[in-house]
Amino acid sequence: MNKKKIAIYPGTFDPITFGHVNIVKKASEMFDEVIMAIAIDNYKETFFSLEEREKLCKESLKDIPNARAESFDGLVVDFADKLGTNIMIRGLRAVSDFEYELQLALMNKKLSNKIETVFLVPSFDYLYLSSSMVRNIASVGGDVETLVPKCVADALKQKRRDN
Ligand code: ADP
Repeated sequence: MNKKKIAIYPGTFDPITFGHVNIVKKASEMFDEVIMAIAIDNYKETFFSLEEREKLCKESLKDIPNARAESFDGLVVDFADKLGTNIMIRGLRAVSDFEYELQLALMNKKLSNKIETVFLVPSFDYLYLSSSMVRNIASVGGDVETLVPKCVADALKQKRRDN
């Protein structure tokens, strides 16, 4: 029997947007299983806690049967190894993503020679969408319903009310 093809899609997802969901959908058609890997992120302060980000990712992916979300700590190459895969998905938007993403892909290859990074380009509507832009719009009361899943829009509204 053929081995299951698993792909890992790591990121901060602070919060998950329709751009991320679009990439997961595309990957879910190419691989048997897609695991969104939510980084704890020790280096940058996140807007949503790890628990909140994980809950929002799980809710946002519930209609994609072969995709799921899990959080991880440490090196993404080690987490990939633990999950039994060497395939890592990353999204590529504008040229501005390229340099950082290439650097990351090469560094991960240095850390684990078997890791292969697969870049996917989102649908046109999501090319200029980023989590930081969503956070900024929501923080001043802007409407983000067309940019993020409903649960994320609700969570952003709640955060604004709490602050
Ligand atoms: P980071 O790991 O740099 O914090 P994110 O967690 O926001 O980045 O995103 C994880 C991955 O998803 C990255 O490869 C990023 O380029 C990609 N991504 C983010 N937003 C979009 C989008 N709108 N369309 C396609 N890919 C995206």
